[in-house]
Amino acid sequence: MNEKSVSIAHPKGLYVLFATEMWERFNYYGMRAVLVLFMTKALLFDKVFASNLYGSYTGLVYLTPLLGGYIADRYWGNKKSIIAGGLIMAIGEFILFFCGSLYSSNPELSSWLFFSGLGFMIAGNGFFKPNISSLVGQLYAKGDKRTDSAYTIFYMGINVGGAIGPFVCGLVGDTGNPADFKWAFLAGGIGMIISVITLKLLHDKYVLDPAGKTLGLTPPNVPKKMLQPIFMVLGLLLFSFVTIGLIYADAKVFSYLFYLLIACILFIAFIVFSDKTLDALEKKKIAVIFVVSFFVIFFWSAFEQAGASLTFFAEEQTQRQLGSFLVPASFFQSLNSIFVVALAPLFAWLWLKLGKREPSSPTKMAMGLFLLSIGYLWIAFGVKDVQPGIKVSMIWLTGMYAMHTSGELCLSPIGLSLVNKLAPAKFASLLMAVWFTANAFANKLAGVLSALYPDGKTTYIIGMPINNLYEYFMMFVVMAGIASIILFIISTKLKKMME
Ligand code: GLN
Repeated sequence: MNEKSVSIAHPKGLYVLFATEMWERFNYYGMRAVLVLFMTKALLFDKVFASNLYGSYTGLVYLTPLLGGYIADRYWGNKKSIIAGGLIMAIGEFILFFCGSLYSSNPELSSWLFFSGLGFMIAGNGFFKPNISSLVGQLYAKGDKRTDSAYTIFYMGINVGGAIGPFVCGLVGDTGNPADFKWAFLAGGIGMIISVITLKLLHDKYVLDPAGKTLGLTPPNVPKKMLQPIFMVLGLLLFSFVTIGLIYADAKVFSYLFYLLIACILFIAFIVFSDKTLDALEKKKIAVIFVVSFFVIFFWSAFEQAGASLTFFAEEQTQRQLGSFLVPASFFQSLNSIFVVALAPLFAWLWLKLGKREPSSPTKMAMGLFLLSIGYLWIAFGVKDVQPGIKVSMIWLTGMYAMHTSGELCLSPIGLSLVNKLAPAKFASLLMAVWFTANAFANKLAGVLSALYPDGKTTYIIGMPINNLYEYFMMFVVMAGIASIILFIISTKLKKMME
């Protein structure tokens, strides 16, 4: 082997984690591709309720990793947590499969099954997602230059799954016959099982630290009781019942999730900023994490319309006939991941090419928001002056997703590694939690904003009317545009605070 191939070669464990995560994302995004369609066409929820429930679901999906990461670090280790979380998610998909089989014959039962399926997905993701992401970094020694490229390869795995999931689940589930949605959930569940089997078979042999020791095993000195299978199963079931209650309560009883998330952020801020061992510089860096996490809320809440209002738009307002084939609306949710795989190398090349002129991380994130805003401007232009009921070309959604993805590539990986770099070791996980909580907040907000989808009637945002799709999309142009401008303006100050 020559010197170059040694320096760029990655441990085999990376590819095990790649495949495991790919199948899990296949499951998650495949299911999400049909979720609002299933709610509106099979369960006959109206768009407002479906949108809000979508926000509660995806919001909670980003909140439970706080607990899953905590339990893994202290008691179960990453491997057990991933396998347990994966199985819980598979159960969630199978429950949704039954829900999709029964919705017309037994609507009462199927409504319960629906909330239960979502609850299991939320609980399982909390144990799966944070733990697989943290294993990637542990494959390398601290400071190993390959870590960044490992995360880039892993991000590809996420998006290969994210591209294939909606495609397969859309093909079998989004056929125009609502009775077929169940097949999408079944396909997702099978994908999840493949993910778990992959890790179960290959983890011990390949997922090793630089010294060759298997990673992610149970930490030493854990009380035996905590690892008893019956205790773990009961704990997971109990947690799943809690998440079923959480999603049901937020959607049906009282929308508390925003308050809970704000409380989480304030609590973490209090813990971190009241710590006497941190010096002023460390506190400044932590402040930057809080500021950028605040700005990413405006990004993800507009971006995550993909699974909600933009899917309504694909279904009802987009001309999807290609020759004799009617492109399922769910297919459009593949576009983001396809563009990530296609455009990521371009951005990697661009940052390298710019060398010393490479923008700072906050500036790149402002650029991400700007590109998102432009994406919405593009689609707003596409629907301007179009008479109600007239469908527009697929080019508008496709072009918009290309711009949104370019924005994602400026903001998402950069933000993640910024949080990693700025956080003092003592608070590394807790500050990663801030990033996740911002994501959770954004997803919940995405549902609330999707509920403003005009759909033939006027809706209102802070007292201002939204009469048509043009005005609806312009709302995102303005929101992301203003956030982008402010972040551009303060980026020099943020850069100084980080030095
Ligand atoms: N698409 C990526 C994933 O599923 C990132 C999404 C996000 O951070 N909101 O992991």
